[in-house]
Amino acid sequence: MFDRRTFFKNSMIVAAGATVHAAACNSISDMDKLDDKIVSLKRNVPVNYEADVVVIGGGIAGISAACSSAASGASVILIERFGATGGMLTTGGVANFCGQMEEQGEVFDEILDDLRRFNSLGEGGRDSVFNHEILALVLQEILLRRNVKVLLHTRLVDVLVKGNKIAECIICGKSGLEAVRGKIFIDCSGEADLARYAGLSVMKGDEKTGYQLPMSRMFFCRDLDEKDFYQQVPEDWPTKITNSDDMPMTSPNWPDGPGGRAIKLKIPMFDATTTEGLTNAEMQSRRRTMDVLYYYQVVEKKKWRLSNSATIIGIREGCRIEGDYILKVDDLRAGATFEDAVARGTFYLDGHGLTDDKRTYILPKDQLDVPPYQIPMRSLIAKDADNLLMAGRCMSADQLALSSARVATSCSMMGQAAGIAASMAIHKNTRVRNLDYTEIKKEVLKRGAQLDVTQQIYPIHG
Ligand SMILES: Cc1cc2nc3c(=O)[nH]c(=O)nc-3n(C[C@H](O)[C@H](O)[C@H](O)COP(=O)(O)OP(=O)(O)OC[C@H]3O[C@@H](n4cnc5c(N)ncnc54)[C@H](O)[C@@H]3O)c2cc1C
Repeated sequence: MFDRRTFFKNSMIVAAGATVHAAACNSISDMDKLDDKIVSLKRNVPVNYEADVVVIGGGIAGISAACSSAASGASVILIERFGATGGMLTTGGVANFCGQMEEQGEVFDEILDDLRRFNSLGEGGRDSVFNHEILALVLQEILLRRNVKVLLHTRLVDVLVKGNKIAECIICGKSGLEAVRGKIFIDCSGEADLARYAGLSVMKGDEKTGYQLPMSRMFFCRDLDEKDFYQQVPEDWPTKITNSDDMPMTSPNWPDGPGGRAIKLKIPMFDATTTEGLTNAEMQSRRRTMDVLYYYQVVEKKKWRLSNSATIIGIREGCRIEGDYILKVDDLRAGATFEDAVARGTFYLDGHGLTDDKRTYILPKDQLDVPPYQIPMRSLIAKDADNLLMAGRCMSADQLALSSARVATSCSMMGQAAGIAASMAIHKNTRVRNLDYTEIKKEVLKRGAQLDVTQQIYPIHG
């Protein structure tokens, strides 16, 4: 059983280390007569980059936003904290597209075409499964083809706001602190880092309990022959699982190329938007990997060898930015259409139970299906700012609406629309919310995205 108390007790070493460090800092602050709970940081930071559009986060939403904006003629810079773009789909190890894959728009079409060129779509006989190593390459090449300036290993660390506008982002890569100035910013960080650091309104988790959609750890095993197999988890591993009733939700039969399998393991009740929450989730998920691996290797006698884990735990929900419109689960149930529609959702309400690690859902199973629905431009415009858009997991939606709209296909559509809107606003020298939304919609359709929700598309349950 998942035991948070044991986990936090066992995390004491980490906490003690942090205390020692804090004490050392306090003595320096005392000498300088500063408030011992606040340090003042005053630095001159060079504005080393300027672009029409600044995209934070290189997941599928950020890539689609950057590419579509650049295709409209804007200069675009994309900031990504890891060494590869793709976000959850690559560094998170999620190697599968959900929702309708056709007619998502030209960026997504190009991604599919390139994956096919590398024989990397349709892995394990499933049309939607891809090789995530190849995807990382495909995405970077698509960005480079459109002259998007990409900074990898570079993290957004702060935001400068002037009036109602984001003025500069402070980023930190190997060169240290630098500033990026832009006309329009698009937050595709998943956790709404830009909006949060700018102090804008965000929403997080379930309204009553505050719990976010559960995370999952993706890890990868290789199937070995009997003669090559060896048990990896030691017999004295304290939380090994020996009984199937104690198993958390896992999906052990997902393909990962010949002889490989991708296993998804549910890790609920950690906050992906705090430093300690995310740290604890990562550590807990590695421990749980051992727990379930013991069960597979020893109890079920599977010859599965752990080969690697995703670089980051899989995050389904971080923070959602409050936009000009909050997409609601009832909109999805009604198959809503909007005058300012710019994207479409075609997946069911995939909200896993928030407070347990079993295969449970927030809603009863007969309430999960929704018809295709539209996503309005207003859900991609931050309500508190004049030049901030968002796309992907940090869109403006309630938690259940996000449980469907968060899938890669819809995130790409949202990104493409945000990118188009950003360059249109720059071209017309106005705010995005002053644009004629039907013009954005027209361009979205011209770029190959389908917004029609009258055809019944049967949701793919994954
Ligand atoms: C376990 C799991 C399984 C899933 N299964 C599927 C599936 O089968 N099919 C499907 O379609 N969808 C699936 N999803 C959902 C889907 O993968 C994601 O919701 C989607 O890819 C999100 O895209 P995004 O661009 O909004 O966010 P992300 O992919 O999270 O991208 C955000 C990017 O921003 C970067 N970033 C974050 N903060 C900063 C910062 N401060 N500075 C710089 N960069 C930053 C991150 O490194 C990341 O690259 C799954 C999700 C999870 C967690």
